[in-house]
Amino acid sequence: MASATLLVGPDKHGRSVAIVDGIVAATAPAGTPVLACPDGEIFPGAVCAHTHIYSALAPYGMPKAEPAPENFIQILERVWWRLDRAIDAETLRAGARDYVAKALLAGTTTLIDHHESPNLIEGSLKVLADVCDELGIRAMLCFGATERNFGRDEAVRGLAENRNIKPSPLLRVLVGLHASFTVSDQTIGEAGDLARALGTTVHVHVAEDLADVADAKQRGYVGPLERLIALGALVPGSILAHGVHLDAAQVRLAAEHGAWFVQNPRSNEGNQVGYARNLSQVPTVALGVDGWNPDMGEELSALSRLAAQNGDDAVSGPRAAGRLAKGHALMAERFDLQSDPLAPGAAGDLVVRRGGAVVDVVVAGRHVVADGRLVGGDAGAFETAARAEATRLWDRMKNV
Ligand SMILES: [Zn+2]
Repeated sequence: MASATLLVGPDKHGRSVAIVDGIVAATAPAGTPVLACPDGEIFPGAVCAHTHIYSALAPYGMPKAEPAPENFIQILERVWWRLDRAIDAETLRAGARDYVAKALLAGTTTLIDHHESPNLIEGSLKVLADVCDELGIRAMLCFGATERNFGRDEAVRGLAENRNIKPSPLLRVLVGLHASFTVSDQTIGEAGDLARALGTTVHVHVAEDLADVADAKQRGYVGPLERLIALGALVPGSILAHGVHLDAAQVRLAAEHGAWFVQNPRSNEGNQVGYARNLSQVPTVALGVDGWNPDMGEELSALSRLAAQNGDDAVSGPRAAGRLAKGHALMAERFDLQSDPLAPGAAGDLVVRRGGAVVDVVVAGRHVVADGRLVGGDAGAFETAARAEATRLWDRMKNV
């Protein structure tokens, strides 16, 4: 997708933002197209710092797991690890179109995705990259390598898939690892090596549940974080999802290695893994949805509520919004842009709201939602197609 030049505004506060070749600029050249919004308000686009686009179809009638899971590992084994094995290219494409459309319509302009589809490894990231490009969202993609289904060969192929797509102005590639507890030392070491070779970072689930901590201890490490560090996989700038079961010193240790954390409050509550109370020890914590609907306003409400319940004063109530600001900084770091949104040098990603509702969305200067409607496709048709694919997916899930 080409970056574009656009002048947005003035809005009702008299604010205008010039975007030149996809980047916010102090001024726009004469003749630049104008998106006027005299009764709207300009906001930065939101960054969703951890999600799984492949779970997009889950809201469309996913059958309940039988027998009902009683802990986190059983949730993975009976739900998500069956769903991801059943994914084929058609299902992934349909789910991705629906999910990316819903993200843009909610004012989310960047998705940091963690993908897994063990029976569709090669080519899976291209499916996601093509949909992101088609609809015009900024993205960071990775394939989460694991050994949980087919052993080391699966991990080698998973890591290699991260080489199969190339960065572009709106796309960065990370190196994905599922989690410490589903990979060998060798795979973790290779993930770090690959991230350094590609000039990128690692994206991995860390200490989401106590089971991850117990596994690392059994392997002779203090915990999963220390295991990643010992094996050279905590490349500076890496993204650690969850960190629910890290103590304060461990959270600070990760930050000293230049890591980012992503808190996923709705998911953590839903999976009953606990509240990530120690993340507030460090400033580098962004907000993710972990496969839930990509409306960052909803996630922010959940964070605000759960932080208050858990006495996490650093992010309770209105202070929760600080997590969203950090998402911008995380995105800007990977794209080598100014981290202060809407300032010259920042990503040209913004949202115009009227009475709170998203009216227009611009990504890298391209108008991707206009008057509340997706520009790159028919969002209603995407949802219809996604629901039809979901029916096929539930059938396949019975047999994988
Ligand atoms: Zn996740």
